[in-house]
Amino acid sequence: MKFGIVSKGDERSNRIQATMKQYLTDFNLEYDETNPDLVISVGGDGTFLEAFHQYIHCLGSTSFIGVHTGHLGFYADWTPEEVEKLIIEIAKTPFQIVEYPLLEVTIRDRDGGEENRFLALNETTIKTAEGSVVFDVEIKGSHFETFRGDGLCISTPSGSTAYNKALGGGIIHPSLEAIQLTEMASINNRVFRTIGSPLILPKHHTCMLKPLGNKRTFLIAIDHFTKNYNNVKSIQCRVAKELVRFARFRPFPFWDRVRDSFVADDDV
Ligand code: NAD
Repeated sequence: MKFGIVSKGDERSNRIQATMKQYLTDFNLEYDETNPDLVISVGGDGTFLEAFHQYIHCLGSTSFIGVHTGHLGFYADWTPEEVEKLIIEIAKTPFQIVEYPLLEVTIRDRDGGEENRFLALNETTIKTAEGSVVFDVEIKGSHFETFRGDGLCISTPSGSTAYNKALGGGIIHPSLEAIQLTEMASINNRVFRTIGSPLILPKHHTCMLKPLGNKRTFLIAIDHFTKNYNNVKSIQCRVAKELVRFARFRPFPFWDRVRDSFVADDDV
């Protein structure tokens, strides 16, 4: 089996990276940065997102696992103290794989019809540097509402515990193939009206955002990476056909992860 390791880059993460690389190679596993079967991220959830995007070209054949060197992460759930145990588990391959849904985002340009397609593990957010965003929101080809406000967040089930949660969105179990649309400070008064609740869309239900008025430049984030897009004609979001694979070496049910991350510790 071939493995790759992505480190956050700090001293502690680099040290763990070096140890894992050495021991796994001693176990006759092959270090392969280009097409690994297993990617180990060492750092935090941000490092895991980085690793996911670095290996996005081989999602069908690569699984991910995360070691955290800071606080407990949602994706990075192995502690530095458990690294030896993890190395032995990895060496005993094959491992169990759990697949979770991703979000597909397609940004279309108004002039030449240029199209940029992205996959997100957590979410996309659409904001503007000045004033409000104004979008027609279409769901499954029909006009649903005109949104005015700070922005919109469209998240995956595994991203539902990230930015989406801070916006009052619901937590969705990642076995459900769905995406969630949450509002950021929508303007609601006698003139403007939005649903005001998070919307959960199943697979095949596309959400299309079409900017209204002259404002066509948006700050669009795909997970941890934000960029300015000019002349935007539409932003299309739906459940992607690709999936992300997590390597499972022990059971860690999603709801236990949610409890451990957000609800008080049992010891307190
Ligand atoms: P960061 O390091 O500031 O991460 C922010 C926090 O989000 C960290 O505590 C991280 O552990 C947590 N996080 C990431 N993915 C998670 C998930 N799926 N479930 C639960 N917690 C998760 O920023 P970054 O490293 O660049 O990470 C980008 C992510 O930060 C974005 O994908 C977004 O979800 C999140 N974010 C959250 C808020 C917010 O909660 N208000 C605002 C901006 C970005």
